[in-house]
Amino acid sequence: MIQLKPYKSVSLTCRCGGGFSFSGILWQGLHVCENLVCEKCQSVRINSIPVNQSILEQYTFYPESGIINDTEGNSVAENWYSAKLISIAKPVIQVVELDIEVLKKYDDILILNTLDYIYGHSLLFLLNLQNIIKSGTRLGIVVIVQPMMKWLIPRDEVAEIWTVNLGFQSFKNFYPDLSSKINSELDRFNTVFLSKGHVIPTNENIDIYRFTGIKPYDFSNEPALPGITFIWREDPDRLWIRNIYLLKGFKKSGIGFLLIPFQFLRVILLFRLLKNIFGTKYAYSVAGLGVFGRFPSFIKDHRVKSFTGDSEKMLCKIYSESSLVIGVHGSGMLLPSAHAGMAISLMPSKRWANYAEDILFTEHDVRLAAFQRRIVPLNLCISDLRDIIADMVSGRTYFIKKFKHSEEL
Ligand SMILES: [Zn+2]
Repeated sequence: MIQLKPYKSVSLTCRCGGGFSFSGILWQGLHVCENLVCEKCQSVRINSIPVNQSILEQYTFYPESGIINDTEGNSVAENWYSAKLISIAKPVIQVVELDIEVLKKYDDILILNTLDYIYGHSLLFLLNLQNIIKSGTRLGIVVIVQPMMKWLIPRDEVAEIWTVNLGFQSFKNFYPDLSSKINSELDRFNTVFLSKGHVIPTNENIDIYRFTGIKPYDFSNEPALPGITFIWREDPDRLWIRNIYLLKGFKKSGIGFLLIPFQFLRVILLFRLLKNIFGTKYAYSVAGLGVFGRFPSFIKDHRVKSFTGDSEKMLCKIYSESSLVIGVHGSGMLLPSAHAGMAISLMPSKRWANYAEDILFTEHDVRLAAFQRRIVPLNLCISDLRDIIADMVSGRTYFIKKFKHSEEL
């Protein structure tokens, strides 16, 4: 964790020879920065504090010139991450609502910042709470969240919840009003620390019940009608379309929505193939975000138009009753994989660098984990996928029988 109050600034020298002095913390969203001003020439230097993504790539931004450097002093081009730092030079001047909820009073706190422009990042930052709580820290835990993530906070374990009333897309920008409101709150405390908020919160399994209040699928106590559930998304980047160039071309032309019917037909075909094998032994469902099309009656439609605390909780219940969930790689797979018995993530071409980042594992046994959480190429043909699902669902017990034995010599 990083100490924010009292702040311990590192001594840095400006090009003009003057010394930089600390002039405050800037809260952009996924960037939390120290704002430094040269005492001699007044030039500004903004350093991202090494938390969240900045643990992996820490940048320095000079707003006057627009230059961004990495820790080696090399110039960094504009990318998905540096762009948010650049936004500080183009602040959005508007009032941002910050709701402060005090659950327990503390003089010394540890802040977990989960603000981000992508849902999946925010969720992973939030799951850092597991390690923070486990540490038994004497500090009061303060979580900064967006409204949609609030329901996931284990309220008994935290001191305060600061809710920023902005949607995810807003965090492509910098709001000075929000930044100064957060800084004003820090005045109430003697010492303030900022959690590292790791991008992948821990290598241990996440106890998802602690966050959602819903127990994951239990193979020793299966529901009468276990589910096989497709996780639906409609955003053009993550459609179940095998040809990546077709997908990208349509997205670039702004007509990605024209491919949604193809995903719709693929889902129906997949479930028809599975129904041919398993009949009524399973509940075939679609869950997630979206509205396109009307599925045949043998497919239950649990999709929602928008995510709210209530709708997400309802969906987690569906996942927890699913023997297997399948969906396109991405943040939409985090909660499904954490609750379902087994999961298949369909990895699009060009996304392999993000391997396993969307899967929350529940297994302690590595062999079982390899069986139950699979990452396969999205461009597999549908009959291959049917075979994989069918073998996972019907072969799990026999697979376990092979390696869970008495170890007798
Ligand atoms: Zn200077």
